[in-house]
Amino acid sequence: MNQMNIYMADLVHNRFMGSSANDTVPYNVASISAYTKSLFNKNTQIKIFKYTDDLIEAVKENPPNIIAFSHYIWNAHLNQSIGNYLKEKYPELLIVAGGPSIKTTHNEIKEFLEVNKYIDLCVINEGEGAFLNCVIAYDQGAKSFMDKKQIIPNVGYLSGGSLIFEVENKFSDLDNIPSPYLLGYLDEFLEQGLMPIFETNRGCPFKCTYCAWGKAALSKVRKMSLPKVLKEMEYVAEKYPQCADWIIGDANFGMLPRDIEIAHKINELRKNRPSIKSVTVYESKNTTIRSIEISSILRKSGDIKKQQDFSLIALQTLDETAQKYSKRSNIKLDDVPLKIKAFRDAGTGVRTDILSGLPGESFEGHMSTLRQCFDYGFDHIGIYNVIILPGTEMETQESRNNYAIKTKFRLKDNAFGQYNDIKSIEQEEVICSNNAITEAELLTLRCMHWHIWFGWNHGFFKPFFKYVYKNHGLNPVDIIYKVATSANLKNNLKTSLDCFKENFEGEFFESPESLREYYFNPSVWSKILNKGLSRAGFILNAKFIQDKELYKSALEALTNVVSTNKVEKDKLKILSNLLLQKRIWPDDIFNANFKQKISLKLTQNIAEFFNIKNSNNIFILNKSLSEQKTIRDRLKKHSYEVRPRMAIINTLLSIPDAFEMKFSQEKVVHQREELIYT
Ligand code: SF4
Repeated sequence: MNQMNIYMADLVHNRFMGSSANDTVPYNVASISAYTKSLFNKNTQIKIFKYTDDLIEAVKENPPNIIAFSHYIWNAHLNQSIGNYLKEKYPELLIVAGGPSIKTTHNEIKEFLEVNKYIDLCVINEGEGAFLNCVIAYDQGAKSFMDKKQIIPNVGYLSGGSLIFEVENKFSDLDNIPSPYLLGYLDEFLEQGLMPIFETNRGCPFKCTYCAWGKAALSKVRKMSLPKVLKEMEYVAEKYPQCADWIIGDANFGMLPRDIEIAHKINELRKNRPSIKSVTVYESKNTTIRSIEISSILRKSGDIKKQQDFSLIALQTLDETAQKYSKRSNIKLDDVPLKIKAFRDAGTGVRTDILSGLPGESFEGHMSTLRQCFDYGFDHIGIYNVIILPGTEMETQESRNNYAIKTKFRLKDNAFGQYNDIKSIEQEEVICSNNAITEAELLTLRCMHWHIWFGWNHGFFKPFFKYVYKNHGLNPVDIIYKVATSANLKNNLKTSLDCFKENFEGEFFESPESLREYYFNPSVWSKILNKGLSRAGFILNAKFIQDKELYKSALEALTNVVSTNKVEKDKLKILSNLLLQKRIWPDDIFNANFKQKISLKLTQNIAEFFNIKNSNNIFILNKSLSEQKTIRDRLKKHSYEVRPRMAIINTLLSIPDAFEMKFSQEKVVHQREELIYT
């Protein structure tokens, strides 16, 4: 063979950007490429692909010897569809697949290969060493090793209907993996501004049952060489300062003492490069003091106002039974208040992630978890459904039986597309009930979660909730519960919430097949291809952002469930009026200048609450010209005139406070002014 051509594909559905899979560089396959290239000494050309159309074109122009697909929930069906297409056209191709979704037992691997017939070889666990072995075997005579039933460690394949597979519990020495950044493998993706992912260590000692890192084989934490990590960061910062957001991909950044040095390096690199706006880290559990120190180092540079840059304490649940069943009992939680305080002292917001539907967590257990999150004072409470990930302990039949887990399937957000007439859709399997919670209870919770996302995380009701918590001692969870279950809502609000529940339920299907049958129907398919598709919660966000009367009704409902007497009700009405006046209605952004004086009679404690002082009840609300421009550009980019809701949804995802003004610090010169909004 003169030259071996290898294509490495980490494909995404690239119709819409905005998900972390779509927006990050394909580090995983680049690392495997760098390792292969360094140890396979023959003439080899390796190309990396992220976009499906590019891969198809490249194969047509110059069919490679080997294609390797990285396999995860955002591209499993895409890989299958493209893999089948390529295999039919180019039967000589050797197709390899690997990734966290690939299961590890004999039976599971066999079943996987029987279903995914396009795959010749399936790489188990870590990719670098096993893929190199595939390349070496291929070099010795194309696919002849398969006829000979030759064993390739950590690689499975079918031969005459039997699985040939042997596991070898030996991982590559991470020091032997050259940097894909320094070799230039990721340059073309960094040039596009995609997010760089840095891997400073690999593995996680915890065993959460719903997580792919929880597998026993991946529990040992191994370090990348420190000089390599620091050089990679220097390389990206110096050559690609346009990459605004960085990710440290480690499961527990801060676990190792040297992580302090890495944080200092990031700080040093960001100091003179304001274009590097945020660095996401997944903080280490059980190493509180170091996590706090790292957070404080990282806050010294960069834009700490960005939500993504909030310090994350991923609680998932505070329910003891759920912690036990998901094997998280060994993660210490008693120092959460200390961490939050320290993060705040370092000048940053703090966010948490919570899961809904975990085995063992009842309706009341989940409510307590949420209440506690508000008591802790998290600035952002991200609540997600439990998704059953392939290859995790939770996915096993034993776990499903133990906890009576019932699931349904829904289209993975924005993960669909058509390539060369090949239609593809990704699904996610979501827990809809278990032996601790019913489907109806989870539906009520979804409605409550929406209020938290819209009202707290995006901030549209946040001052109201904070005021009531401080002055009435009422936890937002209890206020939201009353609204979500109230029979006395105004018609427009009731209709919108009912419609949300209906849309939400309509997203779920009994099986992946029924999901595809529905979306592949030509009329549905052309609609979602042309107009896009969004989740029920995002659609409801957009409605409340567009519709002033609806927003008013929601504020009124909150006021009604809180107020016990007329005096307090009047105060809450003033507060609601203020929130209403702070709002920007999307149509206005194209023709208004948002520097407005408003006249509003605030009670002293409301004024104090907002930290605003003004004896004349005249205030300035402002949205800077540059912010206005950014929002207008974003709305236009997402075709506001044609698809206003989708444009609002996408704008809000990247600019959470896009549709609100802030109090200006400027002095009010004139004493009297017209009300701008009435
Ligand atoms: S959820 Fe986090 S702590 Fe748990 S296994 Fe996964 S990476 Fe480790």
